[in-house]
Amino acid sequence: MHDLLFTVPGDEFPFTASVVVHVDGPRHVVRRTAGGDVHEVECTADDVDRVVDEALEALLAPIQVCRACGTPSASPDFTAVFERMHYICFHFEFEHGDADRDQACGLAGCPAG
Ligand SMILES: [Zn+2]
Ligand SMILES: [Zn+2]
Repeated sequence: MHDLLFTVPGDEFPFTASVVVHVDGPRHVVRRTAGGDVHEVECTADDVDRVVDEALEALLAPIQVCRACGTPSASPDFTAVFERMHYICFHFEFEHGDADRDQACGLAGCPAG
């Protein structure tokens, strides 16, 4: 029997949002707290990975932080299309190649173009 606590990176105690995984025999409880809201899901050991993933996704969703530059993004495509990066960061990371960042790489939509 043990509890696991997840918090938002950079958040300090007392945490504004958290996910607690409580295991008590066959009973798994995943409790997400955000502000004053508490969202609790009870599940089995088979489901717990998925339920925890969803809770962590929801925990981090309000602050979409770019993996490349570390600043927040407001893009609705942030998670699905650009692998948790700004479009610009994604482009320079994966598409711009060895071209200088101040010079267009030739791809349509290149921010340096
Ligand atoms: Zn970025
Ligand atoms: Zn480019």
